[in-house]
Amino acid sequence: MKLTILALALSTASAFVAPSARSAARVSVELEAKKSVADLTEAELKGKKVLIRCDLNVPLKDGVIGDDTRIRASVPTVKYLLEQGASVAMCSHLGRPKDGPEDKFSLGPVSKRMSECLGTDVTMAPDCIGDEVSKIVGAMKEGEAVLLENTRFYKEEEKNEAAFVEKLAAPFDLFVNDAFGTAHRAHASTEGVTKFLSPSVSGYLLAKELQYLAGAVDEPVRPLAAIVGGSKVSSKITVLESLINKCDKVIVGGGMTFTFLKAMGKPVGSSLVEDDFLDTAKAAMKLAEEKGCELIFPNEILVADKFAEDADTKVVSADEIPDGWMGLDNGPAATTMIQEKLADCKTVIWNGPMGVFEMDVFAKGTFAICDTLAELTEKGSITIIGGGDSVAAVEKAGLAEKMSHISTGGGASLELLEGKVLPGVAALDEA
Ligand code: AMP
Repeated sequence: MKLTILALALSTASAFVAPSARSAARVSVELEAKKSVADLTEAELKGKKVLIRCDLNVPLKDGVIGDDTRIRASVPTVKYLLEQGASVAMCSHLGRPKDGPEDKFSLGPVSKRMSECLGTDVTMAPDCIGDEVSKIVGAMKEGEAVLLENTRFYKEEEKNEAAFVEKLAAPFDLFVNDAFGTAHRAHASTEGVTKFLSPSVSGYLLAKELQYLAGAVDEPVRPLAAIVGGSKVSSKITVLESLINKCDKVIVGGGMTFTFLKAMGKPVGSSLVEDDFLDTAKAAMKLAEEKGCELIFPNEILVADKFAEDADTKVVSADEIPDGWMGLDNGPAATTMIQEKLADCKTVIWNGPMGVFEMDVFAKGTFAICDTLAELTEKGSITIIGGGDSVAAVEKAGLAEKMSHISTGGGASLELLEGKVLPGVAALDEA
């Protein structure tokens, strides 16, 4: 069963680079126990009305989609279901509507792009529940697709309220969850509906995300390295500890570096520091020592006299950040050192930028990581980009296709790496 899921997941998700045969044989325990669309027989799908939770939460401005990655990533499962003769209604949230329906959060533009990607018309439903939706779904023929309107137009979605869940599930025979990006939330459309629809199974994207992310830390091809950057120790400490427990090397970068440097007694100038987390940083360093994990910090920093694109900058040793200067990127020697540390790694997980990469002047350290990981992938290592800003950086660098796996879910990927159970996965049927 495991290998069928993976073979299908990998063959259908052609936009992504397949992992090595060795990594494909590893599946997370969480997924291993769960039923997938690939386990359903033709009779279970043909002529059936399927509700699929996709993550179609794309950046949208004035009706224009900024990045269609999540739409494209949802295509393999939807296509498979349509080919099996099911009628498919996709549902998703989009943005954070505050008080009911708002035009700017309508999934309308997504239905158009989804039609193009699927190569078949996708009808846009005016709502996600109610008589009109029941009528549309009831009239759907085999192989037809509908996109339901934003589930977060109802506050009951996030509250996972039973009455709303029942209405959402009412027109359907079965449920597929393919929304990795929201699998860490127990919402009506991710967790609630599983109580009303049977079977409830995983889609190929969800399976693929779990296979890469959980597989990488459960049973990695070693040496396993993690690069953890971003702004704060406070937001990354749980994942950092979890990765220290599992990795051979953990490279720390970005704003959180300076809390560690200060905890070591080094001067950090006016760099970002969380004084409340100095002890936490010390504990993380101790943990790394106990676990035999090499904890690596940049040895050279690009400092600036202000947080601005036109700041005066200079490169200094990480031991000697001058007063009045703030660290905003890795220096070139730190980049070279990190590249050397990564050179023998067979699996690398990356979450969080090395500097304030949104400003060109502080982006070099982050983009160097993109290049390095692309080279490592080429040489056969497994490279996993764990959501959020690192994904944005890889995409800006035009290197997305060069990575083994790019996660569609920042928060979900962090929670998975932290070892938490994802409610949207836990609620699915056992295989
Ligand atoms: P996170 O959401 O924790 O992954 O943090 C990402 C943010 O961290 C990005 O917006 C970066 O600009 C920011 N960041 C990275 N390095 C630094 C730094 N040295 N000082 C301040 N912010 C940083």
